[in-house]
Amino acid sequence: MEQNRDFSSHGNASLIIGVDVGGTKIAAGLVDRDGQVSGRVKIPTDTSHPAKTLQAIADAISGVMQEAVVSAAQIKAIGLGIPGIVDPVRGTCLFSANLGWENVAVQDWLEQATGLPCAIENDVSAGALGESLYGAGQGQRQMVYLSLGTGIAARAIINGQLYNGAHGMAGEIGHLMCDPTGPRCRCGAIGCLEALAAGPALAEAAQQKIQDGSASPLLLKQLQHPEEQMRAEHVFAAAALGDSVAHQIIQRAARYLAYGLSFLVFTYDPQCIVIGGGLATEQSPLMTAIHQETARWIAQSPVARGRIGADIIRPARLQQDAGIVGAGALILAQERTQ
Ligand SMILES: [Zn+2]
Repeated sequence: MEQNRDFSSHGNASLIIGVDVGGTKIAAGLVDRDGQVSGRVKIPTDTSHPAKTLQAIADAISGVMQEAVVSAAQIKAIGLGIPGIVDPVRGTCLFSANLGWENVAVQDWLEQATGLPCAIENDVSAGALGESLYGAGQGQRQMVYLSLGTGIAARAIINGQLYNGAHGMAGEIGHLMCDPTGPRCRCGAIGCLEALAAGPALAEAAQQKIQDGSASPLLLKQLQHPEEQMRAEHVFAAAALGDSVAHQIIQRAARYLAYGLSFLVFTYDPQCIVIGGGLATEQSPLMTAIHQETARWIAQSPVARGRIGADIIRPARLQQDAGIVGAGALILAQERTQ
């Protein structure tokens, strides 16, 4: 793999730090070779200026060393998952809407600031590696990871290697056009999967029901006060109480997601698709609906039927530490190929 870098030159240091850079918080910790995390640090992301954000990342890294009582000399390398378009070879973030970054030389800056080797990747790519090495995709040479939250994106592991494509876009199915008459996506295009089935789309659909007077009292009761913004969690809570309007909203999103999943199945033909992200907890009614819709699609498809089962869809196993483990996995995956 061309993005492989040799971290073995950094003395006898063996410890790895994983940093999950989010739009609101930075989570970091030591990741061991069993994917276990220690020395956790969580600090707010300062997005007022790229230099401030980078400094906050450097602070999180030194925070981990303090928390775990280790010195820089013991650290082999640092892996970072970044929410945006990343050039892992040059170590730059080309664009991140969440961080307000454009062409930020993350790797150079951090290597100078910390004196340690760093590797960066897109956060979904890091998540895919994490689930592949330590989570629900363990032992599968062909797998796809789908992140379902405020946005939607997937990454494939092909023959055990992360596949980003020629422009880092392989798996960006959040912007797969699903309905040419659908709503406008935040990317500017019409009817993207994300605009139909991500968290804000579920909230928007519920908001619409309130506006046109068709929301049920159960759905309305989820809001503490009339000005509170509807969120996907409110829709889930109403559905769990048996609300039929919330249930319809979720089922509709799941139908679009099953379409996205069928696209991933036929594109990558994976052994499994691991679904993670904020909307994909095991108890989430959206996951239940996704399982139903996928099973229905498989039963209807003569191509898929008999070759794959509904168990091709699996919930992610790495939960609260997923971002940190994924970032650490960037280094650990390279170690395994050296
Ligand atoms: Zn879009």
